[in-house]
Amino acid sequence: MLRRLDHRVALVTGGSRGIGRAICLRLAREGAAVAVNYRAEAAAAAAVVEAIEKDGGRAMAVQADVSRRTEVDAMVARVAAGLGPIDILVNNAGILGRGTSLTMDEAEFDRMMAVNVKGIVHVVQAVAPGMIARRAGTIVNLSSLAGLGTAVANTTPYAATKAAVISLTKRQAFELGPDGIRVNAICPGYVKTEMLASIENAENREQLRALNAKAMLGRIGVPDDIAGVCAFLVSDDASFMTAQALAVDGGRMDFLTASA
Ligand code: NAD
Repeated sequence: MLRRLDHRVALVTGGSRGIGRAICLRLAREGAAVAVNYRAEAAAAAAVVEAIEKDGGRAMAVQADVSRRTEVDAMVARVAAGLGPIDILVNNAGILGRGTSLTMDEAEFDRMMAVNVKGIVHVVQAVAPGMIARRAGTIVNLSSLAGLGTAVANTTPYAATKAAVISLTKRQAFELGPDGIRVNAICPGYVKTEMLASIENAENREQLRALNAKAMLGRIGVPDDIAGVCAFLVSDDASFMTAQALAVDGGRMDFLTASA
């Protein structure tokens, strides 16, 4: 394993399970000290910390609901005190709700905006001043293939939040670039996690299976597929990359637009 992140401190939001968990483990294996943020799953976050420590790494679990600015500020202060100033921020926390333009539930849409969009704004507002002061830092925001195209039916409010994440990423890259800070987004296709399991049901299982087959690589993603790309983006190997939204989807987006 490469150790591109020695002496760096990383904060990963929603790090207790799924893609966030895989990112925590990967960044730690590459040498970073990792703050594992969680909202409610304290035991799962503690298990990620334990796995990192068993492997010889440094980590701590930090509670905060990213949609609440006061909790985010307290979390960032705890990370700085426990591990040191944050060099790497991965805004991974996100929630998925269903609905079309006509059927979306307003309260659920508000909650998705609060977590998926405002959550990123809160954490960046809390972390970036320290990065600016040190003229170094890198941020990765988790968007989705849904933010780039129409992807899956009946996920319109979620898709709108993930498109906003791409816009925020480009704006943050533009605004923070002169201070030496890089900001990129990852747009995963289907990845096997609890979030994906939450949208599967008896009626759409076959439809989802057929959709998954429609990727050049003919398979669904696993969290490590995303973690590897994230580790690259936050490392100096990506030192000239910023303002990018990378689709990591096994070739699904292009496959669906192929003419034959
Ligand atoms: P997941 O539901 O397994 O994990 C999401 C994590 O975010 C959980 O640990 C959850 O507790 C945390 N979280 C939710 N609300 C929070 C809040 N308010 N404050 C702090 N943490 C909070 O989902 P996942 O599949 O691992 O998704 C991770 C990210 O990747 C999300 O942003 C998601 O939208 C995105 N994504 C996932 C897929 C996929 O197919 N799984 C595809 C595209 C994008």
